[in-house]
Amino acid sequence: MTVRTRFAPSPTGMLHIGGARTALFSWLFARHHGGEFVLRIEDTDRERSTDEATQVILDGLTWLGLDWDQEPVFQAERQAEHVLAVEQLIKEGHAYRCYCSREELDDMREAQRAAGKKPMYDGRCRHRSDRPENAPFVVRFRSPDEGDTIVNDLVLGPVVFPNAELDDLILLRTDGTPTYNLAVVADDSAMGITHVVRGSDHLNNTPRQIQLYQALGLPMPQFAHIPLIHGPDGAKMSKRHGSVALTEYREQGYLPDAVNNYLARLSWSHGDEEVFSREQLIELFDLAQVGKAAARFDQHKLDWLNGHY
Ligand code: GLU
Repeated sequence: MTVRTRFAPSPTGMLHIGGARTALFSWLFARHHGGEFVLRIEDTDRERSTDEATQVILDGLTWLGLDWDQEPVFQAERQAEHVLAVEQLIKEGHAYRCYCSREELDDMREAQRAAGKKPMYDGRCRHRSDRPENAPFVVRFRSPDEGDTIVNDLVLGPVVFPNAELDDLILLRTDGTPTYNLAVVADDSAMGITHVVRGSDHLNNTPRQIQLYQALGLPMPQFAHIPLIHGPDGAKMSKRHGSVALTEYREQGYLPDAVNNYLARLSWSHGDEEVFSREQLIELFDLAQVGKAAARFDQHKLDWLNGHY
């Protein structure tokens, strides 16, 4: 099996160092295994996605030397395939139309809260008999009610999600556009992705995606969720901890290999060594040595490494 990984940024802003590190890990994993690394630009949010942001991402990856193996795929161009996947799910009884109005959903959640329950969609349209003519609808996935969905993560180990806590996910919005989880599964499958390496902020989406692979009868990739980068104080990374945008490091004269070395070492370790060439990183990189805890950003370390190139 040829390893095939991807980086799937949304072109809605700058390439921040967290995104750059996700790309680096996905690239290192592919290159270590002599596999392929591909890009998918997740431009489905038409209002926030821009060509400039796409260019900034491609330029940033090029600067870091993270080369990709085929023309980038633009997710918005694949909408017809996404809708086909939803039609298959409806035909096979895994998805259904939901006609609930906003008011009905608000009332439902209110009643759940009043009863001390966590508000979540209760699946009432699964068996709705009064299907209104010409009324707007979303399409929802019929999520399994019982059992668990287990993510066997290559970094985090097994993570168990009780199915009772996953409500019926919206797959198509009222305007017919696909939602994130459906589009990602359809695309990762069509692109032949064998390993999904991404930030741990996506972990909660993964049981949804596993359920969709199962319902669509598609082979499942393996998942690896890498820890987020926090500031030195443990809080979410922000401007006051150093530059957040990759372009700022470039403008400040940092060397791309030093940045790669630093980003790799943020949550990957190999003995006590600190300085690695690009070739060494490719040779030694192993997801099994990626830590589970959030990494702490350390400007001094980056500066120190930058002085070693
Ligand atoms: N487009 C998503 C993001 O930028 C990533 C999706 C994924 O890796 O599955 O956060």
